[in-house]
Amino acid sequence: MAKTYDLIVIGGGPGGYNCAIRAAQLGLRVACVEKRGALGGTCLNVGCIPSKALLHSSELYEEARNGIAKMGIIVESVKLDLKAMMAHKEESVDALTKGIRFLFKKHKIDEIIGAAAFTAKNKLTVKLNAGGAEEFEAKSFVIATGSEPVGVPGVPIDEKLVVSSTGALALAKVPEHLLVVGAGYIGLEMGSVWRRLGSKVTVVEFLDRITPGLDGEVAKTFERVLKKQGLQFKLGMKVTGVKKNGKGAEVTIEPAKGGAAETIACDVVLMSIGRRAFTDGLGLDKAGVKLDNRGRVVTDEHYATNIAGIYAIGDVREGPMLAHKAEDEAVACAENIAGRAGHVNYGVIPAVVYTYPEVATVGATEEELKAAGTAYKVGKFPFTANARAKVNATTDGFVKILADAATDRVLGVHMIGPDAGNMIGEAAIAMEFGASSEDIARTCHAHPTLTEAIRQAAMAVDGWTMQA
Ligand SMILES: Cc1cc2nc3c(=O)[nH]c(=O)nc-3n(C[C@H](O)[C@H](O)[C@H](O)COP(=O)(O)OP(=O)(O)OC[C@H]3O[C@@H](n4cnc5c(N)ncnc54)[C@H](O)[C@@H]3O)c2cc1C
Repeated sequence: MAKTYDLIVIGGGPGGYNCAIRAAQLGLRVACVEKRGALGGTCLNVGCIPSKALLHSSELYEEARNGIAKMGIIVESVKLDLKAMMAHKEESVDALTKGIRFLFKKHKIDEIIGAAAFTAKNKLTVKLNAGGAEEFEAKSFVIATGSEPVGVPGVPIDEKLVVSSTGALALAKVPEHLLVVGAGYIGLEMGSVWRRLGSKVTVVEFLDRITPGLDGEVAKTFERVLKKQGLQFKLGMKVTGVKKNGKGAEVTIEPAKGGAAETIACDVVLMSIGRRAFTDGLGLDKAGVKLDNRGRVVTDEHYATNIAGIYAIGDVREGPMLAHKAEDEAVACAENIAGRAGHVNYGVIPAVVYTYPEVATVGATEEELKAAGTAYKVGKFPFTANARAKVNATTDGFVKILADAATDRVLGVHMIGPDAGNMIGEAAIAMEFGASSEDIARTCHAHPTLTEAIRQAAMAVDGWTMQA
């Protein structure tokens, strides 16, 4: 006899576990199937959390070596213990994934450890990690199976010489030369980690700019600052082959628009050219669930697929592949299934690159506003003129606020600078509440803080900045 639930969530990532918890809070009897053996999905196990652990540790290492002598702190013989750095990362991941297991117990959610596959539109079979299989039925199913890295055709990822982000989070030694393919946020974050730990890092990017999708002016400053730190860029180039030699690899690159090829010798190649929706082995054909031409599960705005009772959220459906987007969809989807009116405001989904300086953005870019023919005003403020950034010696970057020319409503906020990832929260709240730039400009901000740069940028929209 199949076990039955009100809701079975497939995948225990930020989409899946938040959906399970919210649905349980709303009184549903819930199970979550996860095959990894640990909850938290890509984000906790091989994504957001381990990468931020290494970014933070490597930033401290770099500061101790180069950054704080001018403040009168002399640290002699700074050494890297990579094994200990990796152990700290793993301990953090372990504690956080166990925390979700605790939350599942608290909310009486059954965790089923194994790989789920639909056998019909209301039935699942789970191949249990412990051996054997079990059948399940539910009134509703949520597909939250996430995404996986994309490779370059003909260049297999072995997680040793040619690595995905997963391998790049666990290298056993610091490569002499790391070649990063793709100048998106994952490549730049991991490239920054290994550069700080001592690697020469070359980033090859197909487009003629880094971080596609980010505000162009921010991206230009970002590229300049990263170059100053020692990252080398080969823009407008594509990888056409990777040949192993005894020591490492010979990577052939060619101009994307055609031209002469060149080869670069390196020890490790990181493939970070994007991710695709993951639905392998899920039996979606047996359930009749439709995919789009990019392999993503098609849903309506309520996360419902074409099959009644089956929903999809997170990386496996359209939209930015971000943990907090998955999390918001999870809550909205669970609320919809429980008969409430869940909703996500896709106009206010922040995105952050956790390099130094950080890059953070929410809302429309200038390029998007121009393309839409929207008349807008711009206010900008540099961190060189912010007192706190000055005393902290972290003056790279600026805040830019875009406001509607007629109504002054904030349409987008883009920052590059210290702690931008935390500061973007203020902009997101303001936009969620429909703030004007004047609302931000007239809100008292504590002094001396980095957030004053946001206020000054808002003042600059109407030309009354005080400090620059
Ligand atoms: C290196 C890296 C850094 C990142 N950093 C950030 C960041 O700083 N901020 C941010 O917002 N996002 C970041 N992301 C993206 C973020 O991790 C994803 O957007 C997020 O994890 C998506 O959540 P999800 O629940 O949709 O899917 P996932 O987290 O991918 O979870 C899906 C889960 O489903 C399981 N699964 C799949 N198929 C089955 C099946 N048939 N049966 C059972 N289980 C199954 C998988 O094992 C997986 O654990 C990063 C990603 C990477 C790779």
